[in-house]
Order: sequence, then structure tokens, then C-alpha cells
Amino acid sequence: MIPHSELSFKKCFAVGCDETIPLHRLMCRDHWDRLPMRLRSLVLETQRAWDRGGPLQPYDIATLDAQLHIAQIEGRPEVASIRADLDRIAGAKARLG
Ligand SMILES: [Zn+2]
Repeated sequence: MIPHSELSFKKCFAVGCDETIPLHRLMCRDHWDRLPMRLRSLVLETQRAWDRGGPLQPYDIATLDAQLHIAQIEGRPEVASIRADLDRIAGAKARLG
């Protein structure tokens, strides 16, 4: 049986990280602390906007940006595929104007 408290936890968004974190957070403390202030602010601002009924896409882009940053710092091979996802989403946004 799964303890009830585990239902409100998820995995850190950084590639390859198995840390469990509260649902409302994006990354574990270690990875979050490695993000530049610009990216942290962007994630939090777009998350707030989404919570208030705004579009999800800016938050998607911000979180992928953050994931890409960590993958680059750690020299992970997933960098290329994260960048492709980011281009696809950001590109769609650019086309929509
Ligand atoms: Zn992590």
C-alpha cells in the first residue's frame, strides 16, 4: 500500500535526478540552487500566471529552459533532445505571434 503522503510528491525535473519533491516544486533543492536567478524567477512567474488561469506554454518553455541549463552544466547527452523540444514549443509560439 502506498502511503498517502507519497501521492503529493513527484520526481525532480532535472534529467537523471531521482530526488522526490513536493508537487508544487520543479526541482530538488540542489538543482534549483544551481539555476541562475533569471531562470528561477521565470519559472515562478510563469507558474503563477498559469495558476491564475493564464497559458501553460510560457511555463512549459521556462521549465524546459531550466532543465536544459542543468543538463548543460552536468554535460548530459540529453541536451540535444531537450533543445529540440524547446525549439519545437518556442517555435510554435513564434509562429502564433
Ligand atoms: Zn534534482
